[in-house]
Amino acid sequence: MEPIRFDLEGRTAIVTGAGRGIGRACALALAAQGANVVACSRTQGQIDEVVREIEAGGRSGVALAADVTERVEVEAMVGEVMTRFGRIDILVNNAGVFAMKPLVPTKGWKPSVGKIIPDFDKPFDDDDWFRTINTNVTSVYRCCQAVVPHMMSQGGGRIINIGSIDSEHGLRFAAAYCASKGAVKSMTKAMAREWVSYKITVNCVSPGYVDTDLLPAVMHDEEIKAQTAKANVPMQRFAKPEEVAVPVVWLASDQAGYVTGESIYIDGGVLA
Ligand code: NDP
Repeated sequence: MEPIRFDLEGRTAIVTGAGRGIGRACALALAAQGANVVACSRTQGQIDEVVREIEAGGRSGVALAADVTERVEVEAMVGEVMTRFGRIDILVNNAGVFAMKPLVPTKGWKPSVGKIIPDFDKPFDDDDWFRTINTNVTSVYRCCQAVVPHMMSQGGGRIINIGSIDSEHGLRFAAAYCASKGAVKSMTKAMAREWVSYKITVNCVSPGYVDTDLLPAVMHDEEIKAQTAKANVPMQRFAKPEEVAVPVVWLASDQAGYVTGESIYIDGGVLA
């Protein structure tokens, strides 16, 4: 048997939300295996920095700013990738936001989580709902619609969506987020079947608690983080973003060619 190598030399990968956190780790890990990486987010300075790190490792990357909820910006970004590299082999739909607020205000009772979440007392509104759904779900639709025709004409590709354990259980005060990640899991299955004959695989990597800026009030406070991990995670710690990037690299590689429509949970035992 051939030795196992995740060789991505010559492949082109787009990673959305690559400026920090899990997306940054995915961009660096894919580049380390030889892929040309397109780092995308709205903040040019952060994706420029990620590309500097990629280039410092002797690999190739480009930073293209885009709001992945906007069709015009996604199409322009994908067009630019095709002009520069002539192909797109890997798409990591990672950009995401989190909102934690009660859907209906709870009079006279404030759970302990409410003390640390900014805006917890403000009414949940349409902006919260559509920001969450558009960033976490509509962006996957937009990026796939722009990228998949190129994968089809190339004869294949790999799509990896970043889901969440919150597709599986109801996180209190996070109904919009749970809805969005449930949708990502369902879309993954539907898209996997839709494009299977084009040799495009579609999978989901679904983390539990990861040490990033997604929820700064928790992530930036070591005491709250330790309490949260102790209360919720059998392994008693948050994941490092790099631990989420490992299955992303595997799913992007030839070695994962028989895997499609799956969700892989990286959660320290939360769902066990
Ligand atoms: P971060 O907040 O650290 O990073 C989110 C990234 O997404 C940033 O680069 C941000 O850049 C980008 N982004 C947000 N909105 C847009 C947009 N409209 N267009 C383009 N880019 C955008 O979060 P994480 O790294 O933690 O989250 C990454 C993914 O992992 C998300 O899908 C999240 O739901 C998921 N996840 C995270 C978990 C965790 O515990 N951290 C647990 C489970 C899942 P910018 O704002 O500059 O555009």
